[in-house]
Amino acid sequence: MNNNADKSWLISEEGFNLTGASETRFAVSNGYFAVRGTTEELYDSETPGTFVAGVFDKWRAAVTELVNLPYPFGMRIYIDREYVDLRQCNVNEHKRELDMYSGMLTREYLVTDARGRSMRVKTVRLASMEEGRRHLGAAHITVICENFNGVICVEQFIDCNVYNLKNNPNERERHFHAVTYADDIYAAVVCETKDEKYNVSIGVGANVSGVRNGNHIGRHSRCFDNFTAIYDDFEVQEGTIIQIERITTVQRRGELCSPEICEGLELGWDKISTGHCAAMAEIWEKANITIEGDPEADRALRFCIYSLICSANPSDESVSIGAKGLHGEGYKGHVFWDTELFMLPFFTYSLPDYARTLLSYRWHTLEGAKKNAELGGYKGARYPWESADTGLEETPQWGFDYKRNKVRIWTGDIEIHITCDIVYALREYYLATGDEKFLKERATPIILETARFWASRLEYDEKRDVYEIKGVIGPDEFHEHVDNNAYTNSLVKWNMLYAAELSDDTEEAKIWIKMAEKIFIPRSGGLIEQYDGFFKKKDVLVTEFDENHMPLWPEGVDITKLSNYQLVKQADVIMLMHLLDGEFTPEEMQKNYIYYENRTMHKSSLSPSMYALLGVRTGQYGKAYTNFMRTVMTDIADNQGNTAHGIHAAAAGGAWCAMFYGFLGVKVDKNGELTVNPWLPEKWKKITMNFYFRGERMRLTCTKDGFELENLG
Ligand code: BGC
Repeated sequence: MNNNADKSWLISEEGFNLTGASETRFAVSNGYFAVRGTTEELYDSETPGTFVAGVFDKWRAAVTELVNLPYPFGMRIYIDREYVDLRQCNVNEHKRELDMYSGMLTREYLVTDARGRSMRVKTVRLASMEEGRRHLGAAHITVICENFNGVICVEQFIDCNVYNLKNNPNERERHFHAVTYADDIYAAVVCETKDEKYNVSIGVGANVSGVRNGNHIGRHSRCFDNFTAIYDDFEVQEGTIIQIERITTVQRRGELCSPEICEGLELGWDKISTGHCAAMAEIWEKANITIEGDPEADRALRFCIYSLICSANPSDESVSIGAKGLHGEGYKGHVFWDTELFMLPFFTYSLPDYARTLLSYRWHTLEGAKKNAELGGYKGARYPWESADTGLEETPQWGFDYKRNKVRIWTGDIEIHITCDIVYALREYYLATGDEKFLKERATPIILETARFWASRLEYDEKRDVYEIKGVIGPDEFHEHVDNNAYTNSLVKWNMLYAAELSDDTEEAKIWIKMAEKIFIPRSGGLIEQYDGFFKKKDVLVTEFDENHMPLWPEGVDITKLSNYQLVKQADVIMLMHLLDGEFTPEEMQKNYIYYENRTMHKSSLSPSMYALLGVRTGQYGKAYTNFMRTVMTDIADNQGNTAHGIHAAAAGGAWCAMFYGFLGVKVDKNGELTVNPWLPEKWKKITMNFYFRGERMRLTCTKDGFELENLG
């Protein structure tokens, strides 16, 4: 499957471009730790990011945030003591290439300095995906002197001079104290976060693995408060080739990492990279999807899958995937419904052990969710809209609107649908895997507590004899403090009925059923009203699009008063029709699709995937394909304009959902029956994928003439 010449596995960039979006795309991450794709030299204009899953801290920040840790991939080269700063040189060639198959990032450049000295440098870096070695990063470095004699010094450094929100003077923060070390073998730092007292130990070691036509003169090290480095000096001449293997260790613990550095140096680049590539190959065997006939869609979908793979760690139940992966500081590393409803299906069907781990995070944070309910005066468990390490609500209270006015953020108070979204994912995982043990031991306690929350949150309207849910935000966040959001009400009803099925307490279950049956769902003439009164808002349609086919604000709309319009930020009713599709007729689905599609701004990257998926189901094929391309291209094209802050992990997961549930038409009903009903866009000749269903490996191949579903055992 793999070879480097196969463009369908490559994400490349030509030229010396230091953009935040490239830092995100070229991050190396293994779900345990991640380092953004900044250059080795680390220029001032770059935004370095080194993150360890689960290491959060508040200190003086508004809310707890994923800590930006010391940058461990630093390397600078000096010729006769002069730093080769690419900004001061002639950069003759500069290329970066991510090979998704091997999960390795290559950077290669040819540079000529002001004195006319030319040097070619190639680095290959990775974060090991091998089980038991996820604390290891490695790089293979080649330096070629093209045309000079002299002394080259290669500095390998760790830079602690990093901040969260580096470019924002009001919110910039450093969340750790660092103690630096260095000796002839390694440079290292031990960090302790300021508030939460998490420890992270980071180290760098290097082996000079080859010098052709030159000499390795020696090694020394230097250590400062915020910077530590090892140095290798080489006597060089025209044609000298230097090869260095760099080992990086990143660990969640307070002791110095010297043993692991030595172990890594002993293993060397070959063993580490071979183990890593074997692990990647094994994952791709389970997770790859090919779309024949549409190279752009094929490669972009692969990048989505790659982003998901690199964001999860199957061995750590205490963490989940943030909205921006581990690839940037966006949303402060917090976990949203994005994980359960958009990303989880990929893991459930492709890497079910990862899915179990991700769902276990919600089990471990159940106590926090109970506390949220209690603080609001309710029973049971309310999961936080934004979650970090405890399950307590972490949403900031203040933010900015589209015109940079300061505004109160209400999502943490009232965007409560996350609680039923988690339950939905628990059931989906169970139906796909048949994992009874998980259902009994971990899912059921969550599900029962959520039903208790809903029972205490519902409000009874005696006049109409209905239960209502007032004052919420549904998935469409343009409208706040709304009553009876159809999405929320429908899923709460479903959540309570499901809890009743699982409960041993017949009295409590009976009450839940009685209440659930009376939950008010707004409908009018086949159209679902997004919430009470939505249809009375000013009606405007989306008619103009930008160069990435994303909607432009309709003329005359006041973007500081979006609640006055029927414009929606993202799929809301449409999302509901995907999740509870059995409750709607094909005519209703089509009618609602057309209505809401024309009014959706896709201002959240979560939105296009749902319109792609439902577009297929409702026969709106042109829209389905446009929205599929929007979602798969989110980070490659940067079509939301904020890839610099991290990947759009939900758009990536949503792309997978659009393929699986939409184009391939896979459905698992409540009895666990699986059906396939594919539809392929014009260009697509064949789709091939493997997935797991109830412990068996399946291979699905679809063409325009039909499909084949093989059970591989
Ligand atoms: C969206 C939410 C989403 C969050 C994190 C917001 O802009 O409206 O649905 O959960 O981003 O991705």
